[in-house]
Amino acid sequence: MYKETISFIKRLFPNQEFVPLHAPCFIGNEKEYLNDCIDSTFVSSVGKYVDKFEDVVAVYTGAKRAVVCVNGTNAIHLALLLVGVEQNDEVLTQPLTFIATCNAISYCGAHPVFIDVDRETMGLSPEKLEEWILDNAEMRGDALYNKGTGRRIKACVPMHTFGHPCKIDAIADICLRYSLELVEDAAESIGSFYKGKHTGLFGKIGVLSFNGNKTITTGGGGMLLFQDEELGSYAKHLSTQSKLPHPWEFVHDHIGYNYRMPNINAALGCAQMETLPLFLEKKRQLAEIYQGYFSKKGISFFVEPEHCHSNYWLNAILLDNEKERDDFLEYSNSNGVMTRPIWRLMNKLPMFEKEQCGDLSNCLYFEKRVVNIPSSVRL
Ligand SMILES: *Cc1c(COP(=O)(O)O)cnc(C)c1O
Repeated sequence: MYKETISFIKRLFPNQEFVPLHAPCFIGNEKEYLNDCIDSTFVSSVGKYVDKFEDVVAVYTGAKRAVVCVNGTNAIHLALLLVGVEQNDEVLTQPLTFIATCNAISYCGAHPVFIDVDRETMGLSPEKLEEWILDNAEMRGDALYNKGTGRRIKACVPMHTFGHPCKIDAIADICLRYSLELVEDAAESIGSFYKGKHTGLFGKIGVLSFNGNKTITTGGGGMLLFQDEELGSYAKHLSTQSKLPHPWEFVHDHIGYNYRMPNINAALGCAQMETLPLFLEKKRQLAEIYQGYFSKKGISFFVEPEHCHSNYWLNAILLDNEKERDDFLEYSNSNGVMTRPIWRLMNKLPMFEKEQCGDLSNCLYFEKRVVNIPSSVRL
């Protein structure tokens, strides 16, 4: 069974000794824009590509303002600071995520609280979220507090797993009712829409990533998406050492961060944005091929949830149990095809094992079964 699947995947990605999970693809104006940066000497944090990249992503997603960062992890950190997450606050999130989400919460001195995901989306479950709030929290004045720890619960960070949007409108509604700031970790979901609206636009701030393995890449990079232009300008200020504009003086009005994306990375981003529509088309085609193949084999292939248009960043299959998953991982990785299990749940890592958890039965279900399979753009 595995043997056939692996040779099928090899035929999809021919002439490669080792098929990677997700390789970047540079077929547009990347070299031209990079050369332009070098010729102009504007390779660092100031330059036309920085502004252009922010504008292009804002127009594509429909955000009022977009602000680039050196990476997605920094962008989440900044987003949490901007919505007012402080030391000892709690932030509700899913344990089925990449470590960046929880690291960023920790950088603020805050604690993650782990809530289950949905079976249909692999993203934060609005039902489980509200259930946990009703059992564990209460409103005091206009803020939500944890009855057990006494800590303020300031924000909620859902994640759109592998590019499949979670039930973000229901989550946004809960956040509104319980005075929670909504920050979307949309790092994996550029090009993914929920009910026609781009992911990352449902809360106060959304975050994209342009790491080397993401749908488009700037080498490393991240982006904050805003509906509130003023908050976006403040984000830019914080990300550039909080320096007040002045022709020669160094005056800073806040503890700032050096989270600016250099112009050379933004140049790559501008070129990648031009090919994004083609990438998305090719990735959808690949997902359709996989879906057809795995449905014939009786293996469950994860498809976009209802009301969603997914970017199909990383394709996933669900095997019957942990043993099958491990056998498949062993066979594929030693036979030239890179496959990966889903992340170890955050609440099982030493840094987070003492944090609070709701019922996590769906996370545990996915943790044992999910395998990611090669998902690069095929030309
Ligand atoms: C990629 C990713 C990030 C951001 O990672 P960077 O490598 O710092 O850009 C954040 N959250 C999730 C879920 C991711 O997959």
